[in-house]
Amino acid sequence: MSSIIQLLPDHVANQIAAGEVVQRPASVVKELLENAVDAKATDIKLIIKDAGKSLVQVIDNGVGMSVTDSRLCFERHATSKIRLAEDLFSLDTKGFRGEALASIAAIAHVEMKTKQDQEELGTHIIIEGSKFVSQEVAVLPKGTSFAVKNLFFNIPARRNFLKSEVVEQRHIVDEFQRVALAHANIHFTMYHNGSEMFNLPPSNFRQRIVNVFSGKTNEKLVPIQESTEIVSIQGFVGKPEFAKKNRGEQFFFVNDRFIKSGYLHHAIMSAYEGLLKDGCQPSYFIYLNVPPNTIDINIHPTKTEIKFDDEHALYAILRSSIKHSLGQFNVAPVLDFDR
Ligand code: ADP
Ligand code: MG
Repeated sequence: MSSIIQLLPDHVANQIAAGEVVQRPASVVKELLENAVDAKATDIKLIIKDAGKSLVQVIDNGVGMSVTDSRLCFERHATSKIRLAEDLFSLDTKGFRGEALASIAAIAHVEMKTKQDQEELGTHIIIEGSKFVSQEVAVLPKGTSFAVKNLFFNIPARRNFLKSEVVEQRHIVDEFQRVALAHANIHFTMYHNGSEMFNLPPSNFRQRIVNVFSGKTNEKLVPIQESTEIVSIQGFVGKPEFAKKNRGEQFFFVNDRFIKSGYLHHAIMSAYEGLLKDGCQPSYFIYLNVPPNTIDINIHPTKTEIKFDDEHALYAILRSSIKHSLGQFNVAPVLDFDR
């Protein structure tokens, strides 16, 4: 009998896992921004070159890492955010898989600088394709800087698969906006090829939406608010007269995390019944807060889809709360005489 099974070496396992976590430069943006938020940063800068193909860098003023942790963070399943599987049900961080940095470092050139507040000196690490190239002690500000260069340098097929700069940049801006809209209290700045694209001072949800999209957004928003045992809802929906043929700005956040939900989207559309011109869609910015033990976030590596314990109740509450707000703000139905 001959045995043929082998354990994959770490760098191979990491590279395979990276295929799920890192699809394009925007995936790196998402993971690094979320890590900065989890590190309790109050100021986060995103620096992009060539739509992320040359550089994705995130600089935060968060808690930083110790010398030991600054190496360990690149190991797979290395996380400070959970200890037990049960912790998933009381999660208050964006991350928990401990996979992102190991994945990114497996398929790019990464330069990390990090320092904890109470320490005199920080750590400067270079890691390329899962191999540590250098580690030095350095004079640094408090917080962490991650620079990711030459993404997919060792997976040419992935690199070639990337879309045009316009498309990749659009994905990056989407991720940036999602995180920025979820965390209005954090100062976010974004630069692309040396010019400032966004500068979002700390504010409230409404002002953050206006700062992200434009001053004109303000008059289009109808506030919604609802509080029940299973969910508290805050946010804004667009006045029906501003609805557009394309989907426009539609955002759900659950416990400060951007998510996609066709089901909840339907709840919103049904609340607008009779108010929209044919084929038009409203904007919405819905912030749901639910007890962490009533959702399952761990159904996909990017965590943009989640499972709710009681989806039907959520649907009904969301729908009625939007209907109520649209009525209260005296939104007149669209009269369509052509029908
Ligand atoms: P996860 O976020 O799921 O824990 P990551 O691979 O993204 O996994 O990060 C691994 C660990 O590295 C984190 O749990 C955290 O302790 C540390 N870390 C990552 N980014 C930062 C950062 N910007 N500031 C401080 N610590 C960080
Ligand atoms: Mg993470």
